[in-house]
Amino acid sequence: MTPTVDAQRLQRELDTLASFSEQPAPAVTRVVFGEMDLRARAYLKTLFAEASLDVHEDPVGNTFARWTGANPSLPRVATGSHCDAIPNAGRFDGTVGVLGGLEAIRALQRAGFIPQRSIELVLFTSEEPTRFGIGCLGSRLLASALDPSVGDTLMSGGQSLNQIRASAGFSGPLADVALRDDAYSAFVELHIEQGPTLDRDRIDIGIVTAIAAPASFRIFVEGEGGHAGAVLMPDRRDAFLAAAEIALAIERIARSSGSIDTVATTGVCELFPGAINSVPSRTRLDVDVRDIDHGRRDAVLRDIDRACETIAAGRRVTVRIEPINADPPAHCAPVIVDAIERACDIRGLQHRRMISRAYHDSLFMSRVAPTGMIFIPCRDGISHRPEEYASPDAISHGAEVLADTLAVLAG
Ligand SMILES: [Zn+2]
Repeated sequence: MTPTVDAQRLQRELDTLASFSEQPAPAVTRVVFGEMDLRARAYLKTLFAEASLDVHEDPVGNTFARWTGANPSLPRVATGSHCDAIPNAGRFDGTVGVLGGLEAIRALQRAGFIPQRSIELVLFTSEEPTRFGIGCLGSRLLASALDPSVGDTLMSGGQSLNQIRASAGFSGPLADVALRDDAYSAFVELHIEQGPTLDRDRIDIGIVTAIAAPASFRIFVEGEGGHAGAVLMPDRRDAFLAAAEIALAIERIARSSGSIDTVATTGVCELFPGAINSVPSRTRLDVDVRDIDHGRRDAVLRDIDRACETIAAGRRVTVRIEPINADPPAHCAPVIVDAIERACDIRGLQHRRMISRAYHDSLFMSRVAPTGMIFIPCRDGISHRPEEYASPDAISHGAEVLADTLAVLAG
């Protein structure tokens, strides 16, 4: 059996989905539970129903479209991704995994395949942190990685998540979102790489073996301000210069972790009062540290703690670190990695094992099911911008490899 993707139909559907945007094309902005997000969901649910899939939604709006297998009591095989888009983004991030997943299922149906396990397409709510400040909201709740009390504490524009999801038509306790342990026997996500390597090296398919996870935190430095002319250099307790030393220490620590997979970024630096003639009295740094090895990443965090203490003492400032999040990295299931690889070989596609340096809903799904990811190239690695582009061929290859992989996993 060789399932074949209807590439033209898939492109048309991607075009239509991209038209649900708060900004004119080619930019796509689709904030979760906004009008365009709800219209995009309605469109997708129509397509799911047309493919004879059983559709249901959970209290946070995660949407499940099920193709019931011959043996429906077995744990199901799932695929899927997200359709929300950050402001001024492109049209392929997430959507390729949703519509590509749907087309993979339709290709299997057309090929006459009868799955033993049910195959379920999942549309995750709010993979992007745009509205509630936390990424992967839906998959975190599915994986019990987030306390259901966030319904009252996560806020957007003065309204709580619970109020906003209710006005979007999603009700019921958030505690009911969590998946049962035996819900899924496997989860596979198709996604654009969002990095340049597959496109640059002309590789058709990236087979993800591990997903790096960020630990992010804020560093608050407090020194003493004063007049830029009057405070003499030996008397200064400049909060910015201490922060600058900290940023350089973070770079040095990440570079000396022993692995190229450790990355650390100081992406935000805010000075107070921020005037040319005033010694900075307070500084805030926002820092993101990622790795695929949990222990190594935490060792880097401890080294950063120590460096902050030393620098604080040397410059007579106080330093406080406030964690934002620290999710554990994930490793993909060898049985899924092998199935993807076999599918590429059979179809004569160039492939490469790689690490996902961005994180996805798969990071959380890996806590409840053996997980794998299929990456396709995107032009110049550009993502989260209107110029984001994946070719019709690349998308079809990804959907066909996904179809083959689902067929193996669903038996
Ligand atoms: Zn994405």
